[in-house]
Amino acid sequence: MKKFAFTRAEIIEYLRGENDEYLFDAAKNIRQKYFGKEVFLRGIIEFSNYCHVHCNYCGLRKSNQNANRYRLTDDEIYECIDTIIANDLGTIVFQSGENTTDDIQRLAAIIRETKHKHDLAVTLSLGEHSMDTYKRLKDAGADRYLLRIETFDESIYEKARPGRKLSHRLECLEILKKLDFEVGSGFMVGLPGETVETLAENIIKLTEMDLDMIGIGPFIAHPETPFRNFPSGNYQLSLRTLALVKLMNPLANMPATSAMESAQKGGRIRSLEIGMNVLMPTVTPAKIKGNYNIYPGKNTYIKADNEIIEIKKILKSAGFTYSGVRGDSLKYKKKHKLQGA
Ligand code: SAH
Ligand code: SF4
Repeated sequence: MKKFAFTRAEIIEYLRGENDEYLFDAAKNIRQKYFGKEVFLRGIIEFSNYCHVHCNYCGLRKSNQNANRYRLTDDEIYECIDTIIANDLGTIVFQSGENTTDDIQRLAAIIRETKHKHDLAVTLSLGEHSMDTYKRLKDAGADRYLLRIETFDESIYEKARPGRKLSHRLECLEILKKLDFEVGSGFMVGLPGETVETLAENIIKLTEMDLDMIGIGPFIAHPETPFRNFPSGNYQLSLRTLALVKLMNPLANMPATSAMESAQKGGRIRSLEIGMNVLMPTVTPAKIKGNYNIYPGKNTYIKADNEIIEIKKILKSAGFTYSGVRGDSLKYKKKHKLQGA
């Protein structure tokens, strides 16, 4: 397998845009080699926007009084799951603000029931929890967990996530690996205080984590947060970051994130064109999904009731293919000697 190992100086050169054409072409080719034109589709259910954390970048932060809070009922969640199955997707992603054990318990029951009935992969993105909680979710049948590190720079981290420690986020990721989840992480491009050097460091450290899934998108300034007046992350710089990370992590599943679409219309398709291979249409009910307002533009650019149908159309016309496969990480499959590795 050809794996690109860039020096810090080379990464910085690429980030400065010194050879975009080569960079984007190489990343596209490596995606082509491992995944062809296939895009793995994951249906995401944003089942609650309650959160007890104070991230200075996020519209769901606890102290945002203007957030319209919701929590889907079990019946509503099952309806979302039915939509995912009816539209032939192989993975459900459950995402929420960071919440109490109450939500975790009912989610574990839903996962157990769903996995009992259907051959689907279940991914979680629920923030930081104890080893016991992660284990309970794994025992219920969850397969994967996404927990972005956000930044590897301790001082930027502590300013962005008051009361939280970078070391604790890293410990959570270690626990998730030990519990044998397929593990995903990533960061935002352009958090306040970030330089091209910090970004290069993020790329190197993330690659050292040897992840199954990597999600990266620009920071988008949210008007109802303390970071409202900082500039959003740069779109072109985010594309370069995605391409570099793809080259350095060829087997990782990497989504074209909705933050790329918020930064620039068409940004998700452009991300696929330069090497990404995953898309996550939301199946959160259309009348509620706008309230999952992590950043402006999140969940609002596709108006159709059924986002999956819409995304499939967009993919087709851009020349990509999709199927109902689970789309497990190639790295994870190799490690466990699973079929298709
Ligand atoms: N509460 C969980 C999962 C939901 S947030 C958690 O924090 O892990 C999912 C991701 O949204 C975060 O990891 C963060 O990288 C991203 N995010 C939050 N606010 C953002 C913003 N203003 N711009 C871009 N991405 C943001
Ligand atoms: Fe909560 Fe996640 Fe938003 Fe932080 S990023 S405030 S943990 S939903």
